[in-house]
Amino acid sequence: MVEFQTLYGSHEAAHQKAVYPDSAVPSNYLFLIPVSIPDSTYQHLLYSPLSGTLDFLDNNAARHIKHLMEGGERAKMNSQLDKDFWDRGYLFENPDAELRQAKMLYKELLKFNRDLQRHQIAIIPTYTCNLECVYCWQDRQKLPTRIMDAQTVTLAFKAVDQLVEGIDPDQVDICLFGGEPLQADQQIFDTVKCIIEQSRQRNFKLKAITNGVNLREYLPLFGDTLDVVQVTLDGPAEIHENRRPGKSGDFWKIIESIDHAINRGVSVNIRVNVAPENLNSISELSKFVEDRWGLHGPQLYLSPVKENNLSNQCNGTTSIKEILHMSGSIQMPNNINLMGYRAMRGVEQILQYAHAPLQRFFSCEAQLNFWAFDPVGDIYVCYDACGNSQLSVGRFLPDLKIDESSLKKWRSHSSLNNEQCISCAAAPLCSGGCVYIEASQEKHSCDGLMDSYPIALSYFAKDIYDIATRGSSETVGFICS
Ligand code: SF4
Ligand code: SF4
Repeated sequence: MVEFQTLYGSHEAAHQKAVYPDSAVPSNYLFLIPVSIPDSTYQHLLYSPLSGTLDFLDNNAARHIKHLMEGGERAKMNSQLDKDFWDRGYLFENPDAELRQAKMLYKELLKFNRDLQRHQIAIIPTYTCNLECVYCWQDRQKLPTRIMDAQTVTLAFKAVDQLVEGIDPDQVDICLFGGEPLQADQQIFDTVKCIIEQSRQRNFKLKAITNGVNLREYLPLFGDTLDVVQVTLDGPAEIHENRRPGKSGDFWKIIESIDHAINRGVSVNIRVNVAPENLNSISELSKFVEDRWGLHGPQLYLSPVKENNLSNQCNGTTSIKEILHMSGSIQMPNNINLMGYRAMRGVEQILQYAHAPLQRFFSCEAQLNFWAFDPVGDIYVCYDACGNSQLSVGRFLPDLKIDESSLKKWRSHSSLNNEQCISCAAAPLCSGGCVYIEASQEKHSCDGLMDSYPIALSYFAKDIYDIATRGSSETVGFICS
């Protein structure tokens, strides 16, 4: 059993023996990044996502590891420098030993994260929607139009009971999802009422992902059961309504809905789907949010528009470089959250906890505890796949039936058994691409972390350097020749 601590800091996990071998090879998973630290001899950053260590190197140390990484001779292990690289988990006895280590960590981390993560259950009352967002990723023409009825809600919850049997109800989240789950429609209203009732009986926490247009009318129905609501705002009024067309004035309806939710004590997250078309309006939106709801108001969760959206109207997405440039130019207001950009999740962990990122061999809920129930009785494990019955993993009408081989494709997807990923430096940070794109478009979809991670690390290099200088982190330090 790998202890939690060793999942972070790793030289112990990576090297079970304290004895140095005669020679060693560099890890397959290394980032060597030139950085710019004023007045310092340490101008390189070495990061191992497998060992979970990150060190600033002087020129000599950088030259040495670079030589090894480029296929030079094996490290002889007779210098202090080689020993330092070994101790920090940048060298392994041989590639097989490293792969064994990676596989063991993958297994442990998957279990660790499945035990740790809350159980997310999405219930989809309807796939219909009252907006026509230019970037909507759902194929609106092909989605079922049926609205979930009361009996289907009961059977969905019967299936949920089986899937979360033995789990503390406090660890289960029911999330209303669509289409748009909160519309001005009596049938949908009645369905949502049943879902709230069923959740309440089980003491599950309730969340909603909504466009917010009719949220206000639904708030009394939730009473005090709504824990968190996610509402999307893609910019100030005009930009928002251009990107998310509905009725004119929807923006202000949404803002009033957020006012009411906050007044009722509901925690509100604002999602911003970022594309080149609204990138430059985010600072104005951020100011608007701060002026209206104060410094401790909702966070703006920035997320790139998905490249897998099926609409041809807008396929533009934004890179980590653009988002960092944008947030740098507005001095990172407190209410901007960049966690939707995956490379930022790891960097944030370093900045907040002075720990190199916890290795993650997975990237999304499909590999963990997520289930989604739709109005026609299909079960999915990925938000994006919902409504495409070929990608379902089972049925709950009339009874729960899971297709174990379909489920395995999602739950066991790993960079470690994917040919395209096996030699990628980012493999320990990644699940090996998006299963949804792989399944729906029959092509490998690379998450691009081998490019975005170095960009994010180099952008925050000075902040990370300050952490290393304080000497308080076991996983962030220095190596010099
Ligand atoms: S992105 Fe959401 S709100 Fe917009 S059209 Fe699609 S389902 Fe509706
Ligand atoms: S999906 Fe891309 S970034 Fe991730 S491990 Fe595979 S090749 Fe690397």
